[in-house]
Amino acid sequence: MADILKKRIEQYCRLYHSEVVAIRRHLHAHPELAFQEYQTSAFIASKLTQYGIPFQANVAKTGIVGFIEGKKKDKVIALRADMDALPILELNQVSYKSQNEGVMHACGHDAHSAMLLVAARILNEIRHDLDGSIKLIFQPSEEAFPGGAKAMIEAGVLENPPVRHVIGQHVFPNMEAGKVGFKSGMYMASTDEIYLTVKGKGGHGATPELNVDPVLIGAHILVALQQVVSRMASPNIPTVLSFGRFIAEGQTNVIPDQVSISGTLRTFDEKWRADAHQKITQLAQNMAISMGGSCEVRIEHGYPYVVNDPTLTNNLSLFAKEYLGTRKVEELSLRMTAEDFAYYAHQVPSTFYRVGTRTKGKEITNLHTAQFDIDEESLFKGMGTMVYLAYRTLEELVD
Ligand code: MN
Repeated sequence: MADILKKRIEQYCRLYHSEVVAIRRHLHAHPELAFQEYQTSAFIASKLTQYGIPFQANVAKTGIVGFIEGKKKDKVIALRADMDALPILELNQVSYKSQNEGVMHACGHDAHSAMLLVAARILNEIRHDLDGSIKLIFQPSEEAFPGGAKAMIEAGVLENPPVRHVIGQHVFPNMEAGKVGFKSGMYMASTDEIYLTVKGKGGHGATPELNVDPVLIGAHILVALQQVVSRMASPNIPTVLSFGRFIAEGQTNVIPDQVSISGTLRTFDEKWRADAHQKITQLAQNMAISMGGSCEVRIEHGYPYVVNDPTLTNNLSLFAKEYLGTRKVEELSLRMTAEDFAYYAHQVPSTFYRVGTRTKGKEITNLHTAQFDIDEESLFKGMGTMVYLAYRTLEELVD
């Protein structure tokens, strides 16, 4: 049975090979920033119309939710793609180079949307054989906080009818095209922005006795905060605290009044995340006070961590092996980067997996760089895998 299904899907993929490449190139050439995906959204809507798939537009501003009705209307899983691009000037010299100067699909969201569109076309054509129905989530603003996933959930995308699982895929330049990767359990970190303003009393560098030096206080705070990871975090919960900005606008002989320090906290446990916020705040404030100054702490909450449901993930990994072969499916490592797919995963058991996009023998072009590009063979394998995973997940899901 699995073999017949596989052959059938592969046939569709060959038929729509040029379609997925053309869509990806169109989206790549016309990138739009977070929550400004008007043309992208209109393009996706026109394709869904062409394929005969019903959808709702303008969900959470520019989002689109499609619906493929299979044999059972209330047994529903969702497939998710993001649509937004990044404020990067593309340096690739390709025919499909960004025509929107300073904006670029450097995180593969063009590929995600293209693969979901053509996967949807195939799933719609075989819908009478699907053991349930499929929601298609084209989500705005993955790159810019507070993110589109939260807004889509608030708009009710996981309800009416309720969605049992959300499955999302993301390009992965470290992995060869034709392969996919899964990670059960903790996969990507929560992310919070930490802003510290250390206040002292500025003055002449030659009269330290008259000043409260915020530069020295800030330096002590920066070093002391390393304890949050090395001494306070459980070794069972991966945690990173990095400060990339330390601004003291004094001179060689001028002590400034204040110093601003900012950084990022990333981890994998909601309780520890809240505890860590408190510990960072107390440590920074108390240390500043002990040295005669003060410290204001502002923490901006970002995305929660991505947890991949173990049962669903193990199933999807087995299905992917059926479709691509055992050697084409890899086990992924945990990552400290973040994704707003996390919001879906905290609502319903979900899986976020990776699609390899590297050309064999070629150098890796990293995500979020001006040289990022994908091996387009990955689109062909990625959309087929998505169709197969959706089909098999519905088949194995108990009513
Ligand atoms: Mn991304």
